[in-house]
Amino acid sequence: MGRLTDSVKFVPGVGEVRAKLLEREANIRTMGDLLYRFPFRYIDRTHVYRIGDIDENTSAAFVQFRAKVTGKAFAGEGRKRRFSVFVGDGTGSAELIWFQGIKWVEKRFETGREYMIFGRPSFYRGELSMVHPEVEEVEKALARREQSGLQGIYPMTERLSEAFGEKGFYNTICNLWSLVRDDIADYMPVAMRDRYGLVSLSEALYNIHFPQSAERLRQAQYRLKFDELLGIQLNIQSRRTARTTARDGFIFNRVGEKFGTFYNTKLPFPLTGAQKRVVKEIRQDTVSGYQMNRLLQGDVGSGKTVVALLSMLLAVDNGFQACIMAPTEILARQHFATMSAMCEGVGVRIAALTGTTRAKERREILASLAEGAIDIIVGTHALIEERVQFANLGFVVIDEQHRFGVEQRARMWTKNAQPPHILVMTATPIPRTLAMTLYGDLDVSVIDELPPGRRPVKTVHYFDSARLKLFGFMRKQIALGRQVYIVYPLIKESEKSDYKNLQEGFEAIIRDFPLPEYRVSVCHGKMKPADKQESMRQFKDGEADILVATSVIEVGVDVPNATVMVIESAERFGLSQLHQLRGRVGRGGEQSYCILMSGEKLSADSRKRLEAMCETDDGFRLAELDLRLRGAGDINGTMQSGMAFDLKIANPTLDNQILQVAQAAAIELLDADATLSQPQNLPLRTLRDRYSGNTDTDFSEIS
Ligand code: ADP
Ligand code: MG
Repeated sequence: MGRLTDSVKFVPGVGEVRAKLLEREANIRTMGDLLYRFPFRYIDRTHVYRIGDIDENTSAAFVQFRAKVTGKAFAGEGRKRRFSVFVGDGTGSAELIWFQGIKWVEKRFETGREYMIFGRPSFYRGELSMVHPEVEEVEKALARREQSGLQGIYPMTERLSEAFGEKGFYNTICNLWSLVRDDIADYMPVAMRDRYGLVSLSEALYNIHFPQSAERLRQAQYRLKFDELLGIQLNIQSRRTARTTARDGFIFNRVGEKFGTFYNTKLPFPLTGAQKRVVKEIRQDTVSGYQMNRLLQGDVGSGKTVVALLSMLLAVDNGFQACIMAPTEILARQHFATMSAMCEGVGVRIAALTGTTRAKERREILASLAEGAIDIIVGTHALIEERVQFANLGFVVIDEQHRFGVEQRARMWTKNAQPPHILVMTATPIPRTLAMTLYGDLDVSVIDELPPGRRPVKTVHYFDSARLKLFGFMRKQIALGRQVYIVYPLIKESEKSDYKNLQEGFEAIIRDFPLPEYRVSVCHGKMKPADKQESMRQFKDGEADILVATSVIEVGVDVPNATVMVIESAERFGLSQLHQLRGRVGRGGEQSYCILMSGEKLSADSRKRLEAMCETDDGFRLAELDLRLRGAGDINGTMQSGMAFDLKIANPTLDNQILQVAQAAAIELLDADATLSQPQNLPLRTLRDRYSGNTDTDFSEIS
């Protein structure tokens, strides 16, 4: 590996302090890590604008123009002190502004001289200005252009750009390259490269940082994406082979009494076609002899819970225990309540275990579980704990699995000597190819049909100024006997101010909706679990008309009489979260409404999200749009939602084509050489092992 495993601090321009920062901000420790920090975008520096052609509608985020200095000026005092350079090119003029390094900048500019100026345009009263642009003498810039027109823009955090500056980071990458260029060994056999039309690794890494042309950049991107997806597929496919050849799955060949009693006498509604199909798929899996590992996707309200219950009854009929794990206390309690009620008289023993279960009760439950006196246990991640032991666990359901890490799911497997069947359920639909990549070795089932009689939720977007109209509407709905949710965003970094918003909102609501006519409850993550439970119960039992909450209610809560979902600061939520929240209403027969409140100032992306919400109810369409809006650069954001792999360049949705080729390549490789032990394949283990890692969901994210 040569220097690739050396600390990044030895790269000229980095040093101890910046090395620490790189580790903290970007998880970069070694030179190799830094080498795999790719630009997320490239700008074409061959294009030179005329000032007159740059306006608010210019789509490029960065522009470059050539202009003469016409004047300079200092303004402001102390920390507000700034320095301006005025430039013009005959088609228009612009102001360049510096707040830092003023002295040095001042010396660099000669009035009357021409410079190449590059930066992010902004406009004040229609006048072009640029803060801290890059500036170069025209002659130099033109000489550099000869080499390459494309320049990478690196993903930077605020701290990193403070410490390096855009140019500084780029220079560091240049220094890095001269240190490591001879250490880059290609792990891919030449024959394989030829076959899939891939350039060498070193050629790819060079051009990803310093594109020699648009075409060579494309080849570099292709190769690096291919590697990532191949690395992941090598893992997924070998796990799959291991699972399907082990033939150690429990066999549920009896459809017994409990399933039958429930299905024939307790089920409060006929199953939809989609629900029936999924139950059948699970039946097939559980008689196959393989251990099932199935992802069930179904939009909010599509009725996944009853499918889970039926599957668990199947396990119980065959002499096994089953469990269902939910991401929040509220949701676990709710599942316990519905399932116990539905199973009355069926003869199954159901219990609940969560973080708030009292010590005495917990002891009893743990003992009963261990001796097989409980058939179905409903709980939170408390179920993962070591001390939770089963007599014979045969079936595990994980609800809203995007809230759990791969690691946590995997721990459930070890709860029995032979791994139980696993059903993971999600209402955050993921395009199939993405699911395949992110969640590994899973078969996918889809409930693509809502129970009959559902009416689509009417969604509108109001600016904050329309609050009176909103209140009027809420009063009308409450007068009809319906209930209203009001949800505030809770975003980790700014927790304090978020709670403040919620508190103020709550107080305002109480003023406008006073007792005794109106009853308002509140529910958020800072409350004691028992208090949370109580306010949810009040709302559920109709003792409160309005529930003011944070996104704790995002997952799974089921109150059919609630018909209005008001989302405050809706622009701060992601699309899938908005859709989840909307799914809390429209569960009864009444027309329901989702009202998105936002400030007047919206970014282009926020606007698109809110528009999309008003336009469609289809979770799959929204999920695809969400991915497209977030793009490859931000796909790591998905990590928090339990994504298994740290992708640096590939986007499984947009790069679906490459994904399929990589998948086929992985299958072929492993068919011939399952452990990659043949000499020409040995180096590919580097790639396989790089992507074998998992991530764990941080539970503090769950409010
Ligand atoms: P989700 O898929 O979001 O978890 P749930 O399982 O909570 O959805 O179901 C939403 C609501 O739809 C529940 O009140 C449930 O009782 C009801 N439901 C589920 N399946 C059907 C069906 N086939 N017909 C009518 N109502 C159904
Ligand atoms: Mg659910």
